[in-house]
Amino acid sequence: MTLATAHDAAPNALTDAAPDAAAPLVPAWQPGFAALGPAFFTELRPTPLPDPHWVGTSADVGALLGLPPDWQQRGDALQAFTGNALLPGSRPLASVYSGHQFGVWAGQLGDGRAILLGETASGLEVQLKGSGRTPYSRMGDGRAVLRSSIREFLCSEAMHALGIPTTRALCVTGSPAPVRREEVETAAVVTRVAPSFIRFGHFEHFAARGQHDQLRQLADYVIDRYYPDCRTPQQRDGNAYAALLHAVSERTAALLAQWQAVGFCHGVMNTDNMSILGLTIDYGPFQFLDAFDPGHICNHSDARGRYAFNQQPGVAHWNLLCLAQALLPLIGEADTARAALQSFEGVFSQQFLARMRAKLGLQQPREGDAALINSLLHLLAAERVDYPIFWQRLTQAVASADFAPVRELFIHGDPVNAWLLQYQELLALETQGLATDLMLNTNPRFVLRNHLGEQAIRAAKLGDFSEVQTLHKLLARPFEEHPGHEARADFPPDWAAHISISCSS
Ligand code: AMP
Ligand code: MG
Repeated sequence: MTLATAHDAAPNALTDAAPDAAAPLVPAWQPGFAALGPAFFTELRPTPLPDPHWVGTSADVGALLGLPPDWQQRGDALQAFTGNALLPGSRPLASVYSGHQFGVWAGQLGDGRAILLGETASGLEVQLKGSGRTPYSRMGDGRAVLRSSIREFLCSEAMHALGIPTTRALCVTGSPAPVRREEVETAAVVTRVAPSFIRFGHFEHFAARGQHDQLRQLADYVIDRYYPDCRTPQQRDGNAYAALLHAVSERTAALLAQWQAVGFCHGVMNTDNMSILGLTIDYGPFQFLDAFDPGHICNHSDARGRYAFNQQPGVAHWNLLCLAQALLPLIGEADTARAALQSFEGVFSQQFLARMRAKLGLQQPREGDAALINSLLHLLAAERVDYPIFWQRLTQAVASADFAPVRELFIHGDPVNAWLLQYQELLALETQGLATDLMLNTNPRFVLRNHLGEQAIRAAKLGDFSEVQTLHKLLARPFEEHPGHEARADFPPDWAAHISISCSS
């Protein structure tokens, strides 16, 4: 991560909202996270950006928040979601957290460039990312650049459409204000939405400082708001904090199973980038696999491959151990904490198998399916077969009973032929129409590959946001055909292999 000094252009004067339309954008805010009190955050206003413009908007997320239908046309929305005007009743804040980065305790971090506007009546928090310095910015400028903001906007909406738990994105706004990274770029703000942005690192923060009252307050808040079942006496012998750890562990295991099945590489699985709700959070150098390479490292700054694709489930478990350590003062016995994490591996394996079975159109667990899936993954890795296209072609092959296009993806015929024989034997035990339907609804045609994002970013840098909108539309319905857009479901161009994405965003 390169954290340079601020290069914002002279900011506009920050005004209180002067709505230019009758209906307020957000009629009411709930206390939410802010009710925890000042030990958890610093209240502050976003730093304005000059001459903002819309880059991308999501009508679906606007509807979730209960925004008025015309919000995308409203100047007050553009100003508010760039951080240039406060929405009435909003008391913005930056929260404090700590965390382990690349396996090493990093001490205090916090929302260094994110500002929480508040929680709406729908129970969703609204957060601006890239909205200026906070007390937690350390050496950073508090800003986000256009390219990374577009990637976060598109990917959070793509993940949601794939059925993968994630923070959402309402919009991206851009500004000509320069931001220095490896080169000078321009500023943007993503408006993110989630029931909560609390991370493992929030717990680590108070545990590391021995602030056990705050630790308990935070855990109680998370349990009451998001995990009320943890209070039932049957859960972990009535130890609500152990029950919380158990629930977070199982949600995280299920999330990782989804990442691994779809071929998603997060890239920076530090404990401060792990959601307590089991959401995908903090999109940085992420990547959907093109060629299937289990050891793929998507983060240019991750020289040792700590966060390589096939390391992700193990790292998630390691991060849960950090969370367990942080919760230990509340849980009591180390054995109780350890026991709460025991199901991680089983849940991950079972969920991963279930997802892979669905990708293969197999409706019932049967003997031999795990071995079949394993040998397939070895085969795909040995020949670096394009992962999304393999699944697309297999889906078409099952629908048409013509497997030639699948075979063409492999240089060596024998292993894939042997695999296909085994596969077809299992498939013959299934209802064929159902298998095809399952595959069509499980294997996306449209995946946010790096080169697609890159093309949208290149156009956006020239002021053309149409490709951002097109991708947003396709990725919102990734399982559908979208005639005329076939090229965006095709193999990546050769230059895609040279796209390099680091934490510096
Ligand atoms: P990340 O790994 O990108 O999630 O960020 C790790 C920490 O660095 C978090 O505390 C972020 O808020 C902070 N951070 C990242 N980029 C910036 C920036 N440009 N300005 C201030 N803080 C930043
Ligand atoms: Mg982060």
